[in-house]
Amino acid sequence: MGKTVALVVAAGSGDRAGGDVPKQFRIVAGRPLLAHAVDHLVHPRIDSIRVVIGEGQEAAYRAAIDGRAFPAPIVGGATRRQSVRSGLEALDGAERVLIHDAARPFLPASMIDRLLDALEANDGAVPGLPVVDSLIRGGETVPRGDLVRVQTPQAFRFEAIRRAHAAWTGGEAGDDAEIARAAGLSVAIVEGDPALEKLTYEADFLRVEAARLVSRTGMGFDVHAFAAGEELWLAGVRIPHDKGLRGHSDADVVLHALTDAILGALAAGDIGDHFPATDPQWRGAPSSLFLKAARDLVERAGGRIDHVDVTIVCEAPRIGPHRQAMRERIAGLLRLPAGRISIKATTTERLGFTGRGEGIAAQAVASVRLPEDR
Ligand code: MG
Repeated sequence: MGKTVALVVAAGSGDRAGGDVPKQFRIVAGRPLLAHAVDHLVHPRIDSIRVVIGEGQEAAYRAAIDGRAFPAPIVGGATRRQSVRSGLEALDGAERVLIHDAARPFLPASMIDRLLDALEANDGAVPGLPVVDSLIRGGETVPRGDLVRVQTPQAFRFEAIRRAHAAWTGGEAGDDAEIARAAGLSVAIVEGDPALEKLTYEADFLRVEAARLVSRTGMGFDVHAFAAGEELWLAGVRIPHDKGLRGHSDADVVLHALTDAILGALAAGDIGDHFPATDPQWRGAPSSLFLKAARDLVERAGGRIDHVDVTIVCEAPRIGPHRQAMRERIAGLLRLPAGRISIKATTTERLGFTGRGEGIAAQAVASVRLPEDR
């Protein structure tokens, strides 16, 4: 057991945000909340991280910390206080402990330094922020000048807080600092951080998720040659024309360019890597399969597609009459409103292979938001 231990309480069973899994296991920006919480505790001054979970949550814990080399979880009690107590009793030999909640996962590294520095001269240190809103109790305004909103992690000298918890007889406490002060310990307040706001309601999750996604742009380009006796498929729409495009799949040049644009935003290779032309299973395949696979990769990464823009380059057929059907088809495949799908067309003034009517080229750009640490 290391000297400074982070104890993450992740034992809740409910979700006031309305989801069907306890919130510490809920996926936010591509990862469970608990995974964000433990990853933000990796710090040169923290020797080990232990997690307290609820009874029966072992499988969810293992899934959440997926791939990280962590010790077995500590099983907590019916309340947060009991869970902290169970955790403290399991941490034999620690000198300092940071007691933290998985519901405040985005811990800045500077906060760990601030707390541990303050612990040099105090038994405990907690982050606090001033109250900026007016407070009213029973119709009367409460002066807020000396009020502080207290956050976690809360840092303590280990033996002192362990004994304080063991001696506490007061039922549920507001936080561990209350238990510490009741035992006569000195608890300093250091400057808190808005990044540590607790995630409680659905709106909190949506706000955090949006804030942790960053924009990426991908580009795609494709060409297929005309051939007699082929069907012409563009953007997943069958277009009546005297010839079609030749290719291993249905040769939908628009969906190929678009699939490559989305793969580009993911930096996940190209359509040929994912669906090799040498693989017989893609012979004559509808290219909607490729686009849906790219869409699924974005969703699995915790991202979202914001907008796509396609330019189709050909002399014929005329694209205008089919533009709306193409937008709606792509919107359906990407599960986006048609207003976020742009289809444009141009010719090359009879120059080059498109100008001579030998084939069709398509260019696409995809704007995708992905978790910033992906
Ligand atoms: Mg192609």
